[in-house]
Amino acid sequence: MSQETMKALVYHEPGKISLDDVPVPKISAPTDVIVKVTLSTICGSDIHIYQGGLSDVKYPKILGHEFCGEIIELGTAVEDFKVGDRVAVSCLAYCGECFFCQEGFYAHCTEPTCGCFGVYAPEGCQAEFVRLPYAEKCMYKIPEGLTEEDVLFVGDILSTGYYGAERAMIQTGDVVVVVGAGPVGMCAMISAGLFGPSQIIAVDTNQSRLDVALKEGIADLALNPKDIDVIAKIKELTEGRGADRTIEAVGVSPTMDLAVGAVRSGGVVSTIGVFEKSFELHLERLWAMNIYLSMGFVPMNRVPQLIKLIEKGKINTNFLITHRAPLNDILKGYDIFGNKKDNCLKWLVTPYVR
Ligand SMILES: [Zn+2]
Ligand SMILES: [Zn+2]
Repeated sequence: MSQETMKALVYHEPGKISLDDVPVPKISAPTDVIVKVTLSTICGSDIHIYQGGLSDVKYPKILGHEFCGEIIELGTAVEDFKVGDRVAVSCLAYCGECFFCQEGFYAHCTEPTCGCFGVYAPEGCQAEFVRLPYAEKCMYKIPEGLTEEDVLFVGDILSTGYYGAERAMIQTGDVVVVVGAGPVGMCAMISAGLFGPSQIIAVDTNQSRLDVALKEGIADLALNPKDIDVIAKIKELTEGRGADRTIEAVGVSPTMDLAVGAVRSGGVVSTIGVFEKSFELHLERLWAMNIYLSMGFVPMNRVPQLIKLIEKGKINTNFLITHRAPLNDILKGYDIFGNKKDNCLKWLVTPYVR
């Protein structure tokens, strides 16, 4: 490629990011692919990193891990793709062969070049180009008839929301509470709906987000802890028992307390929040109630199924797209999305305009 440098959003240290000129990535292994980023996002995790929340992130680092791209260069070992293919990319690069990959825990891949884009080893997607290590494992062709917008979230927040619902082990007729109505919580509501619950209850202190969840039909009821005793209300709705399953999608103490407090004995608490700080959890209560507790980083093993569900019209996440601007304006995006201004749910980053 003739272009030597590209624009990229670089994290320099906690509290410091800038749009810099950096070298364009090159193929460095036969299994690599270089994609031109056609659409990406700012994710809540990027904000955590920017604020210094994920202390194991090494800098300088190009941020961003939710994206689609067009293949511009292929390593010699890449067989099933060609230049020009449009792909949705998983937020995780993984080798597929190490112990944890064999076990299906791709986030724990031990190959040094792998991990979450823009967080661990691979550089991120808030740039003009990205190198995908073990590319055939982490990229998925976008089906004819679907746009980048349609599938953009499969590689991160939709997979995460689905993981929360799947690990909640929802049974037909269950009452499911989702604590946190941000983009990930909304993806958990969308996914929970696939498992046949009788009721999905959204909980958040942000009323405008609750209103979106109701308007889009992804929640049946919305409860705002600012207005109501949420746990008492859920018990009232469930003959005093509590919800069958609760999904926590934030990762802080008050929301975890709500998820634990609202679940019934024998129920499931499934959390997909990103926890930065340790806090007290009432294990004596969870033990006495026979609660199944699930947590952890999404393994990204459902992307093909999610693309199929989108293709067949069973899932639609396009309402999450509230803002869109070129890479040139990404610092504005960090401010607006990061500070939850202007009812922003998802800030999309379109290619840099020269
Ligand atoms: Zn993310
Ligand atoms: Zn691996």
